[in-house]
Amino acid sequence: MSKSKLSAVPIANSLDDLRNVVNGWKAGGKSVMLVPTMGALHEGHLSLVRIARRKADRVVVSIFVNPAQFAPHEDFQEYPREFEGDAAKLAGEQVDLIYAPKPDVMYAPGASTTVQVEALSSQLCGISRPHFFGGVATIVTKLLIQCAPDMAIFGEKDYQQLLVIRALVRDLSLPVEICAGPIIRDKNGLALSSRNAYLTPEQRRTAPMLNRMMLRAADRITEGADISAVLQHTRSELLKSGFDKIDYLEIHDAETLAPVANKITSPARLFAAAWLGQTRLIDNIAL
Ligand code: AMP
Repeated sequence: MSKSKLSAVPIANSLDDLRNVVNGWKAGGKSVMLVPTMGALHEGHLSLVRIARRKADRVVVSIFVNPAQFAPHEDFQEYPREFEGDAAKLAGEQVDLIYAPKPDVMYAPGASTTVQVEALSSQLCGISRPHFFGGVATIVTKLLIQCAPDMAIFGEKDYQQLLVIRALVRDLSLPVEICAGPIIRDKNGLALSSRNAYLTPEQRRTAPMLNRMMLRAADRITEGADISAVLQHTRSELLKSGFDKIDYLEIHDAETLAPVANKITSPARLFAAAWLGQTRLIDNIAL
């Protein structure tokens, strides 16, 4: 076990260290919540930590930039890594343990087992990033088995990911309760994301249009406007406002992710993924 220079939070880099601490808590009857992250922490992550603090006796935050959820052409190398700053933020939230596994703890040499959640992974981000949910499902399954928390929490910012994780927990009978936290946004509506750091000042001015136009589209749809016409119009407005490419702007069932083409008959959400230069933004809102 080590401690960061700037933080009072103990840090486990190995599986033995993690398990020793968690087993000690459990022997003392304490409940444990895991908050999985890739670091470069912002208020969205910290909001999950605060929910965890309220619900559980002990909070573990994992920080691991998972190579398996990046395709070779994606931003694994550039992804922001700010460990000392993250540790200081987590100390401010009275987190009990940071789990920052070394890469070979998560991927032993020769590792060849993966977890795939077939149905939910075939929509939305699963189409534009086909490698992504396999990487996420495998690493989250591993983190849940390694830490064996009573609860784990994920953000609705990555709503499809949340559903994938609920499905794998159900399908593999993992003994953990999955909790969700709402999307935390900038004052201008932009959903917070570690990747927002990539945006140029000009792109930062354009980025909030995504949420603004999604809200406008949602209003028109709930007022009864034709869904495909509204979505078509919103796509072209986004491109006009400066977005370079739209991977999707679609309505899907909030539980099954089945596409909703022309009539909303059960809880549904509007989902979007759009590019500003090299940066891909995602967002979703309830209808
Ligand atoms: P990441 O570090 O991007 O893998 O995210 C770690 C966790 O934080 C995931 O459960 C995300 O859904 C969640 N998260 C990221 N951004 C936000 C946000 N703006 N609001 C709420 N949760 C978020």
